[in-house]
Amino acid sequence: MGAVDTQKELSVYESMAARFDIAARKLGLDEGLYKYLRMPNREIIVHIPVVMDSGRLDVFDGFRVQHSIARGPSKGGIRFGPDVTLDEIRGLAAEMTWKCAVVNIPFGGAKGGVICDPHQLSQGELERITRRYTAEILDYIGPERDVPAPDMNTNEQTMAWIMDTYSMHVRHTVTASVTGKPIDLGGSRGRREATGRGCMIACDEALKRFGRSRESTRVIVHGFGNVGSQAARLMHETGYKIVGVADIAGGVYNPRGLDVPALVEYVAETKTVSGFPGGEPIDCLAILEQDCEVLVPAATESVITSRNAERIKARILVEGANSPTTPPADEILFDHGVFVVPDILANAGGVTVSYFEWVQDRQGYFWTEADVNERLKHILVSSFDDVVRYGEKHNVNNRIAAYMLAIDRVAFTMKLRGIYA
Ligand code: GLU
Repeated sequence: MGAVDTQKELSVYESMAARFDIAARKLGLDEGLYKYLRMPNREIIVHIPVVMDSGRLDVFDGFRVQHSIARGPSKGGIRFGPDVTLDEIRGLAAEMTWKCAVVNIPFGGAKGGVICDPHQLSQGELERITRRYTAEILDYIGPERDVPAPDMNTNEQTMAWIMDTYSMHVRHTVTASVTGKPIDLGGSRGRREATGRGCMIACDEALKRFGRSRESTRVIVHGFGNVGSQAARLMHETGYKIVGVADIAGGVYNPRGLDVPALVEYVAETKTVSGFPGGEPIDCLAILEQDCEVLVPAATESVITSRNAERIKARILVEGANSPTTPPADEILFDHGVFVVPDILANAGGVTVSYFEWVQDRQGYFWTEADVNERLKHILVSSFDDVVRYGEKHNVNNRIAAYMLAIDRVAFTMKLRGIYA
């Protein structure tokens, strides 16, 4: 999203490291493991030559950062964007390690990115960038090594190109080399909705703790990409009242509730929620501060900072995006008694169904959508309980509890494995 608070108070990596430091200290993490886990295991930087439609040769910078493979192959998305940085990818790669550990799936963490503006590129140019990027990192990825997935500005088509490029190089089709593929190419049913569905499940669990009904709960969803739109749609279908949505172009607010199916149709045509006639127009940052019980930041990082946290009215924050809240904002929210479902739990539905996709590809046996959704719910509900109980036991907030639980699991595995010398 462009229209966000661009004056970042902490970078994504700095935010991750600040939380890691608190959790590691509380855990009494061994000094050597602290040093090792605070930084990624491997960082790959590539310069990708691409012949543009005009015939001109252009060069794009790309990254793949593998934070940890202690618990299994590294796992995480690839994002495209003009503002992508190595620091951001490094922070997000570590977050993937913690996310996979929180939901207890057998993966480490990674993240990739290419600096480019997808909105200025043709399909052909996007395909060539994706394929050459894949070729450049080919030796470091694969079903047993590192498994990419979609993230901001990448989608099922991007994953199909990566899978095909990988498969052409190894001379046979390897569907398990990426997740988030089209269903016809070995993708999983339910993967497209999984992150949004996970937000809804996490929100349901939070409501139970407050003894609230869905029907009496007003929700604002910030961001209307894959995560935000699916979260809004599913939450509306199950009875929540969606009172506000926003994307990069602007927002719309209606205290009586938005007609979400009509909104989804409107967005399919106009590509934005801005201008939707079912509510009052509102600025895309101002919407964060409107009246509601639940806020789902599902756009991008660092939208809730020390500059606006004070004015957040929601009692429950369900982080659909990665790192939408800065550590200084965490403190303010905590002091105000906001119940935060942290990103590495709230948005873990995506990577959980990615895990199911990888399992199905390796088995060559595909599950029904009901089966996928049922298993997803089971994992998220028990992870939610684990985090909240851990926090109560150690007297820390949900964010630090999730980090502590994750770091503890990764450190335990590393101690069992020992260090190869
Ligand atoms: N990009 C998503 C995330 O940040 C999904 C990662 C995956 O499925 O591997 O969690």
